[in-house]
Amino acid sequence: MRWSQAFIPTLRDDPADAEAVSHRLLTRAGYIRQLAAGHYSMLPLGQRVRAKIDRIIREEMDRIGGQQFHLPAVHPAEIWKRSGRYQLIGDELFRFKDRKQADNVLGFTHEEIFAMLAGELSSYRDLPQIWYQIQTKFRDEPRPKSGVLRVREFTMKDSYSLDLDWDGLDHSFDRHYDAYRRIFTRLGVTAVDVEASSGAMGGSQSVEFMVRSPAGEDWIVSCPNCDYRANLERAVARLPEVEDQPGELEEFATPEIRTIAALAEAFPALAPPERQIKTLVQVIDDEPALVLMRGDHDLLEQKLIDATGSTRVRPAQADEMRQWLGASAGSLGAVGVEQLTVIADHALEGRRGMVTGANKDDFHFRGVDVARDIKVDKWADLRTVEAGEACVRCGSPVEVWRGIEVGHIFKLGTKYSELMGAYVQDEKGESRPVVMGSYGIGLERNMAAIVEASHDERGIIWPESVAPYRVVVTALRVDDPATMSAAENLYRLLREAGVETLIDDRPERPGEKFADAELIGIPWRVTVGPKGVAAGTAELTRRAGLSTEEIALTDVVNRLAEGGLS
Ligand code: ATP
Ligand code: MG
Repeated sequence: MRWSQAFIPTLRDDPADAEAVSHRLLTRAGYIRQLAAGHYSMLPLGQRVRAKIDRIIREEMDRIGGQQFHLPAVHPAEIWKRSGRYQLIGDELFRFKDRKQADNVLGFTHEEIFAMLAGELSSYRDLPQIWYQIQTKFRDEPRPKSGVLRVREFTMKDSYSLDLDWDGLDHSFDRHYDAYRRIFTRLGVTAVDVEASSGAMGGSQSVEFMVRSPAGEDWIVSCPNCDYRANLERAVARLPEVEDQPGELEEFATPEIRTIAALAEAFPALAPPERQIKTLVQVIDDEPALVLMRGDHDLLEQKLIDATGSTRVRPAQADEMRQWLGASAGSLGAVGVEQLTVIADHALEGRRGMVTGANKDDFHFRGVDVARDIKVDKWADLRTVEAGEACVRCGSPVEVWRGIEVGHIFKLGTKYSELMGAYVQDEKGESRPVVMGSYGIGLERNMAAIVEASHDERGIIWPESVAPYRVVVTALRVDDPATMSAAENLYRLLREAGVETLIDDRPERPGEKFADAELIGIPWRVTVGPKGVAAGTAELTRRAGLSTEEIALTDVVNRLAEGGLS
């Protein structure tokens, strides 16, 4: 491609409101343009990178026996009602009516439709199958942000494994795990696998692949000493024992005290935060409940959702609290509460001598024995793990860091096959629901994650596997016929050798050309100028590290042709 004819609209300045590096660089370097929040156009360079990611993913899916499909993006709402997800997914599902006033949705994911297609399988002999597509997904995200890291319209490779039994699923899951490892290696991103919550999808084992980055929206707990790694939504850690001072249950006055910290300050010996019970009034799928945490622990909402199998959780409002408990936040407690469901965090199990609100403004209870005084309906792990806590496996202090979720693999089981009618006959002639797995990778998010992981102050540094072009031939003086003929010659020879090459034939100053080439991140630059041409040489610069060497014009093609790069 000739740069003079290419559409590569580089910008001098960062787009306003762009915090993530990938958002800034992909925009400035002319890869993407925002149409509206969460909707981006892929410009020619961006499209080339995405096509390479697409190809790598396809090759690895085909290697594990995947068969590519392409399903509709518009679905009758009826399908989503049948699986229950029409209600379950809520506002993230794009919905619209067509001219016949029929309800439709835009494809959020495709478990339902693949399971319907799997209904055409009839025998165990047809299994296993791995089906995939690379297609646009639509999600009305509450906060689209960070360029293409979180958008409302994106390309996903989603695949589905179909097996006769759980052993088969384990095998398909492992094959996907291996394929994902190979994909991320080829993309040049360091992605680690972490245990994840199964969330609203329903299923058992769930593993996410995470790239460490400040632009990530997930928090990961990992142990530097062993292989424990989990999404914070699911992570657990060991707590040191607390010594209790049991006592009589007794009400005492706490005028104006409304917070854990204020109570601890007023009664330092009696009520340090770890001896308090935090009482949160939550509305879980429209049902009020009390959620109890240790005073110094924070509730992690996704854990509450997972523990209750609910869809939506929200904190109660002040008037609801007063109506249900007769007091305001700051004086609430679960002692003697019979009428509401009480869900307590494991850290409160067996605790005695605790302090909690008395459901009477300005009063608390002391000497609370959780087993004796509180009717707990459900015990669950609900708390947020913090950095420095002891690893559940080995006891070393854990780290907590931000990550970008670049992929997700997931054992679904038979939920969708049962709902959508995907049954096969087993060896004995009995009808069994197909056991499914579901696996996703976002193409644009991976593109952005590569940039987050691979850039410097001058711009993007693409790994060769996904770079839009491998080489840019930079002609220093387009008005010098000898320079141009040498540059054009290299451009032709490189292309003939199968090297994707861009020739910078624009009448710009060298400094500007270098800056642009560095910004867009082409792995190799061959600089051709009058002095070098007279001596029969060019300069070869590697984008990573910007090391430069002199090279004979006659050696350029050999050096840069496939397999010759080093
Ligand atoms: P997140 O927790 O980030 O919202 P998710 O759990 O909803 O992700 P999945 O449904 O598992 O994501 O989708 C599979 C993959 O699709 C993700 O690993 C990610 O690479 C990509 N992806 C998901 N949502 C988005 C989005 N809004 N924008 C870009 N890529 C996305
Ligand atoms: Mg999501």
